[in-house]
Amino acid sequence: MNFDVVIIGSGIGGLTAGALLAKYGKKVAIFESHSLPGGAAHTFTRQGFTFDSGPSFYCGLGNDKPSLNPLKQVLDILGESLEVIPYDPLGHYHFPEGKFPVYSDLEKYRQAVAKIAPEGAKELAAFESKMLGLYNCLKDIPTIALRSDWQLFPILITNYFPSLIKSLFQVGIISGSAGNVMEQTVKDSWVRRLIDLECFLLSGLKAEGTVAPEIAFMLGERTRAGVEYPIGGSAAIIDGLINGFKRYGGELYLNSHVEKIITQSEKVTGIKLKKGEIIKAPIVISNASLWDTYQQLLNPEDLPKKYRQEQLKTPTVESFMHLHLGIKAEGLENLTGHHVVVHDSHKDITVPGNTCMISIPSVWDKDLAPDGHYVVHAYTLEPYQGWEKNADYENKKKQRSQTLYQALEKVIPDIRQRVVLELIGTPLTHSRFLRRYQGTYGPAIPAGKGLFPSCYTPISGLYRVGDSTLPGIGVPAVAASGILCANTLVSPQKVEEIVK
Ligand SMILES: Cc1cc2nc3c(=O)[nH]c(=O)nc-3n(C[C@H](O)[C@H](O)[C@H](O)COP(=O)(O)OP(=O)(O)OC[C@H]3O[C@@H](n4cnc5c(N)ncnc54)[C@H](O)[C@@H]3O)c2cc1C
Repeated sequence: MNFDVVIIGSGIGGLTAGALLAKYGKKVAIFESHSLPGGAAHTFTRQGFTFDSGPSFYCGLGNDKPSLNPLKQVLDILGESLEVIPYDPLGHYHFPEGKFPVYSDLEKYRQAVAKIAPEGAKELAAFESKMLGLYNCLKDIPTIALRSDWQLFPILITNYFPSLIKSLFQVGIISGSAGNVMEQTVKDSWVRRLIDLECFLLSGLKAEGTVAPEIAFMLGERTRAGVEYPIGGSAAIIDGLINGFKRYGGELYLNSHVEKIITQSEKVTGIKLKKGEIIKAPIVISNASLWDTYQQLLNPEDLPKKYRQEQLKTPTVESFMHLHLGIKAEGLENLTGHHVVVHDSHKDITVPGNTCMISIPSVWDKDLAPDGHYVVHAYTLEPYQGWEKNADYENKKKQRSQTLYQALEKVIPDIRQRVVLELIGTPLTHSRFLRRYQGTYGPAIPAGKGLFPSCYTPISGLYRVGDSTLPGIGVPAVAASGILCANTLVSPQKVEEIVK
């Protein structure tokens, strides 16, 4: 088999790059190790319950308003649309100091915060105003038009000059962390913790480690576009990308684990599947993580020694404990879908088990669960180290999942009596089903302490997409990585033809 482009992995990074390249006229194939596509965003079904394995928090996917979400921009180009259910409040935060709703509208959100910290709420307004200033100057440059090579500059100058000039005034904030802005605006220790929490939910790092544009976009978009859930869960998104990909001639091979990337004289020539087959292509894009690509898929001698060592030293965010539950829904008619529980104010929010995320998407899409039932997904950080499949594994699993049950009890006090299906996932489960190095959430590169490597590698013809290439773990950033990589591989004229 010969292709113009071969992609390793069908995560959102691989699918967006693949679908765009197919639309640009390239002969593209994606090889996915798993039996299900979507990577961290895959959906699975057990006993009539449909579970999201990862993301459930989405913004700007509907057709009501023009979207700045790079994923939506790709779906639009592919002619795919999603049915979504908007909701507000977008969630509830449960701190030991109090529980409050998080509204898309920032004024309403601050009023809720003011009930716990009246002075802090005013400081939060100053923080948000700085962030929205940054968002307002970046928002007019659509990701779908961008690329990762020098040809970006003429595009920006010709098409987006006013935004570029506005951005120059924000240069100090753009290149810094959300923590820098917090330092300038917020003294209240509880509101600082709240900002740290919002940064942590997005990047896996607190404010001082999270790049400011990431938070600016999150605040700007949730205010402008609101949040919504796609009917069918993340599978609907993955199906949309795959439909578009296939419509333009793309080929997707599931159960096709890639064992090696083949190189010759520092140039990529194709891939070797675990089944033994060799697939030739002058361009290979890896959607596997940085560590999986450089440690497993390439041989040590394929990369410059120093580059390899430095890349493999990239710090990782921990893995996860997961609870996927099917529960009886009777009496829970007013339940809302997203909750974040912080158990202990004296512990750092990043301490495994202390911050628990909860998502109950069947409150929006009833078809995800059998009649009279809900699907629940709760998760928290958990280190990979120390987990092995030994005699104690099942015990440890039960014990480490208790923090998730305790968090759920804050939302549904009698949760334990309602469970009809229980699936507990550990870092070993996460790394196995997502094919991710040590089950990591992604790279922990703090703002100002290192650069994300973009789509380039030292090997000619080998590119990378996904959450270890651009700042901002999460669906929009990952879709952006796919766009930037695909656009870099074709001429600016080709992109303009398709994108306008
Ligand atoms: C629990 C959880 C909750 C999240 N919640 C949200 C949220 O609410 N909103 C949000 O925006 N983001 C969220 N995220 C983050 C988001 O899901 C990820 O950032 C994103 O899906 C990662 O996409 P990716 O393309 O980088 O990689 P992945 O999804 O990891 O995809 C990589 C793919 O490559 C395949 N692969 C790897 N190695 C090989 C090989 N050798 N051969 C063949 N295939 C291979 C894997 O099987 C996988 O399918 C969440 C993540 C998790 C884990």
